[in-house]
Amino acid sequence: MSSQKKVRVRFAPSPTGGLHLGGVRTALFNYLFAKQHGGEFILRIEDTDQTRFVPGAEEYINECLAWCGILPDESPSNPGAFGPYRQSERKPSYRQYAEQLIAAGHAYYAFDTSEELDALRQSQPNFRYAQENRMSLRNSLSLSAEETQRLLDANAPHTIRIKMPEDHIVSFDDMIRGRVSFETKLVDDKVLLKADGMPTYHLAVVVDDKAMEISHVFRGEEWLPSAPVHLLLWEYLGWSDDMPQWAHLPLILKPDGNGKLSKRDGDRLGFPVYAMNWTDAKTGDLTKGFRELGFLPEAFVNMLGVLGWNDGTEQEIFTLSELVEKFSVERINKSGAKFDFEKAKWFNHEWIKKMDNTALLPLVREGLVQHGVSAIEDSSITTILSVVKERMTYVSDFWAQASFFFQMPQHYDVDAVKPKWNADKTKFFEEILVEFEDQDWQASVLEPFFKERVQSSGMKIGELMMPFRIMLVGGKFGPDVFLIAEILGKDQVINRVNVALDVFNS
Ligand code: GLU
Repeated sequence: MSSQKKVRVRFAPSPTGGLHLGGVRTALFNYLFAKQHGGEFILRIEDTDQTRFVPGAEEYINECLAWCGILPDESPSNPGAFGPYRQSERKPSYRQYAEQLIAAGHAYYAFDTSEELDALRQSQPNFRYAQENRMSLRNSLSLSAEETQRLLDANAPHTIRIKMPEDHIVSFDDMIRGRVSFETKLVDDKVLLKADGMPTYHLAVVVDDKAMEISHVFRGEEWLPSAPVHLLLWEYLGWSDDMPQWAHLPLILKPDGNGKLSKRDGDRLGFPVYAMNWTDAKTGDLTKGFRELGFLPEAFVNMLGVLGWNDGTEQEIFTLSELVEKFSVERINKSGAKFDFEKAKWFNHEWIKKMDNTALLPLVREGLVQHGVSAIEDSSITTILSVVKERMTYVSDFWAQASFFFQMPQHYDVDAVKPKWNADKTKFFEEILVEFEDQDWQASVLEPFFKERVQSSGMKIGELMMPFRIMLVGGKFGPDVFLIAEILGKDQVINRVNVALDVFNS
């Protein structure tokens, strides 16, 4: 690749279902690299495998990137000059390249039917279509030129396969792993063009990366074994000078044990693996996502950004623009990153604390509406947020932490109060209620006032603070009780104390 080439990277998911967090991380690293270099981030939908196509998956991908704030500069819904951005729509462009490869002796027609190949796979468990057996199969290498022509003229169904060279080493410099080499004899003769005329991923990815002038490819490590096929195709098509630079991202590993983190690990260990909820249209099965669990996109992106990358300091909290600024391929770890859900939660908690209350407001209001609370002023919500956000891991925790601001306690933790409840305490609250009437209603006034009254009663502060909290909140939780009292307002506090006194004394 010439170093002057404009940076153009692509995220190339197949629309087969919800987006795994590893997929989003791939998108993110592409985005960060593009933006850092003033380049373009492209979304290309790789839908050539029509059998795996799932309706709604492309919309989901769009929504997911938008949620994360990593918007493509070019995509199917926002095309640039390099369209179409869906591989299926590029179908007519591929055959010529497959034919070109055949003409140059790097590919061949294969007439074996899928039934024949299935039978071979049945009888030979390690069957692969490759150099050791290609001459005994039905293809244009093993058949005569006349027979091949006859079959083609008769429109006999066929695929086109790459002819892997026999004893060749294919090497390249991966931006993350350095020099990588492959022995071509270990790689099978992959199908390039299917019987339906659709290219396979291998052909399409090369043709499209060339046509879209892709400069760098950041993709998951699971594609590394395919790299020798892609490299040879770049060479055989005469495009070596335009080949992008490769960066194979290490896997995201399961928290326990080895291996790639899968959706099943999430189900098993009770955390999401998809970015957003995904419902399988056929089965109706719902796979939960980070968004719906109450993750902020900022936290999700931050967590993914540092999964296998760091900036060399202790810093862990990064905004998207900081990641753009600080991202460096050299600091991507070469080994897989174990996914740690507790750490993911920590990121969300930190982001909730850091986030401006007005930015959290719409998310929190959505949750309130679900609980039937709608007539609340924005300013009340932001005030409440400022006192409870320290206690929230998810946006959806707002209700659990703050419902008592919007409604009377539904239950009282009487077990915590009753064993030590007595007439003196009742009297204390009855008297203080009267005095509350004349107080300036601020936490900074209420706290010294309450403490002073406790002291003159001869009782201990904890003996009265805890019941006071339970009167207002229902349980032994929540932020500072005087802040709660201030926010609830005088009338509400007086009412709640009265109601609770009845409960405690009944
Ligand atoms: N379509 C491939 C996928 O679903 C893309 C691999 C690549 O980026 O080359 O991940």
